[in-house]
Amino acid sequence: MEVLTNGTLITSEWIDIFREYPPLLIDISIYGTSNEEYEKLTGVKNGYDLFIRGISLLQAAKIRFALKGILMNENYKQLKRMEEISSAYSSENFRYSYELVVDRQCTNAPRTYEVDPLEGVITEIKYGVNASMLKKRGKELLEGIDEDSYRDGMLYRCTIGDLAVHINYLGEMGPCVECGERGNVLKEDFNNICARFEKFKEEKAPFGYKCSGCRYKAFCTSCPQTRRREYGNEIIVKTKDCIVAELKYLYYVYNLSIEELKDYYKKNYRR
Ligand code: SF4
Repeated sequence: MEVLTNGTLITSEWIDIFREYPPLLIDISIYGTSNEEYEKLTGVKNGYDLFIRGISLLQAAKIRFALKGILMNENYKQLKRMEEISSAYSSENFRYSYELVVDRQCTNAPRTYEVDPLEGVITEIKYGVNASMLKKRGKELLEGIDEDSYRDGMLYRCTIGDLAVHINYLGEMGPCVECGERGNVLKEDFNNICARFEKFKEEKAPFGYKCSGCRYKAFCTSCPQTRRREYGNEIIVKTKDCIVAELKYLYYVYNLSIEELKDYYKKNYRR
């Protein structure tokens, strides 16, 4: 079992529970490096202090946890500091994401905090996060090896409906964290709910689906379920997702320099 949390509610009571039922991993989002940033981005007063309290308790109890930076316009320049906090408290790799999706209420509010695609890609390159994995992917594509091709023709390229489920604090269970289709483990049999999710891994991509055969897909993290939430239709792709994947492709496959990426972006996308 993995626990997803922002860490602000972790108290000694939770440490006792984690000791009794040790999770495989506790995955904690970090939103900034000060109370001001936390309040602006999450609305939680003293959020940074509460977050530090949570990860200090976990560290002292030797409970395994990893930090994941959620980068937005307001905080992405603090990436280095976030990485330092992660290494000071956790032995797990620091990860981050700058790709935001619509919230559960289907408002576009999170999108207004999005980092510009070029800034996001350049930050990722400069900090070398995921660099070895992305370089390996670029090299393989040049050699004609495409590990993602095994799911060509299918709507989902991930393990939805196969390996894991996501259960929220209300007991609502979905085939992944993003999927809105849910059962409730407090009211229904776990196995019956799981059986309903098997359809996802068998779902074929419809004719004309833009992602089928897309040459940038090895660098793309666009998710059909979040697009369903955003557009009401999982086959509608989001231009920004495609730009991010294209820029990574140009860097990791064609070895464009950062300056060349900037020129390319300016010529093709900046109006
Ligand atoms: S880059 Fe665009 S078209 Fe290609 S896989 Fe990603 S979302 Fe689909």
